[in-house]
Amino acid sequence: MITTADAVEQEAERLLRALLHVDCEPQGRTWNLDTCRAIAPLTLEINRLKQERGAVILAHSYVEPEIIYGVADFRGDSYFLSLKAREARAKMIVFAGVVFMAETAKILSPAAQVVVPDRGSGCSLADSITGEGVRRLKALCPDATVVCYINSTAEVKAESDVCVTSGNVYHIVANLPTRRILFVPDRLMGQNLRDELRRRGVDKEIITSDGTCMVHDQFGPADIAAARAQFPGLKVVSHPECTPEVAAASDFVGSTGAMMKYVKTTVAPYFLMLTECGLVGRLQVETPEKSFIGGCRLCPYMKLNSLEKVRDALVAPRPDQIVTLDETLRLRAARCIERMFELSPVD
Ligand code: SF4
Repeated sequence: MITTADAVEQEAERLLRALLHVDCEPQGRTWNLDTCRAIAPLTLEINRLKQERGAVILAHSYVEPEIIYGVADFRGDSYFLSLKAREARAKMIVFAGVVFMAETAKILSPAAQVVVPDRGSGCSLADSITGEGVRRLKALCPDATVVCYINSTAEVKAESDVCVTSGNVYHIVANLPTRRILFVPDRLMGQNLRDELRRRGVDKEIITSDGTCMVHDQFGPADIAAARAQFPGLKVVSHPECTPEVAAASDFVGSTGAMMKYVKTTVAPYFLMLTECGLVGRLQVETPEKSFIGGCRLCPYMKLNSLEKVRDALVAPRPDQIVTLDETLRLRAARCIERMFELSPVD
């Protein structure tokens, strides 16, 4: 007969196998059997509640590793997770990420109850412009196609013609019929888009709003130069939410999914990941043979997620944890995302 103590011990061993190599740890923890034993009762409880509620737990790559590897059904970027949520047809979706991501899940899975562990998990980028702000910009350039990065609120998606991800932005914008593009909310990604399209010989006028990601806009080319001087053979991997100067000085620029693929398929003595630290934690789990030299930054919003909050949301979500959207707005936002599916490159 398996006792509760046995179950906790088995769970602690399972967690340790997953978390052993994570040393990029915002809370300064070292993952050993004792730290895993401490959280094992909670992960067991969450996994049991998940079954009882017919829930799926989605974890963005930037949240704490014990959520990603302890309780999540799917892990990845917001776009991937929202598609997984839709496919799963779950009664309840717990989105361990930030609020705009949970909104995207609700847009695509309206019948599900979508909850966020912490309503305060905003985003400097998504929160930089409102639907009203987009309407004002549209009035200034009425002939532009409005393209929104997926890191935007449902309100902003509802005002936009087409949504894009960091993975499909170049393809979609290059193939839009209009020359003038209003790109919201990421100024830096808009600048990187302008540079990349110019390199590809595509003539577009890119007008941006003024949002930035408070994590990715912190990196500068001096960080890269210092790291290269200290670690010969280093590969620098950055996200298109970084500045154009950082993008130009990097060996690879891509979405979180593309960054992971690059590291997994590239031989190099060291990698410098210019992104949120959670992604480095994931790579340490999934590619323990690779060496990362640090330099990543924390997103304070992502770190508001915790196992305790995930558990509480599953037990009885508070009204502030439940994502609700006006149906007219949801349908308009869904149209913007559907347009992205139509215009995305075929794999
Ligand atoms: S990492 Fe940047 S874009 Fe992602 S949630 Fe945090 S502030 Fe927003």
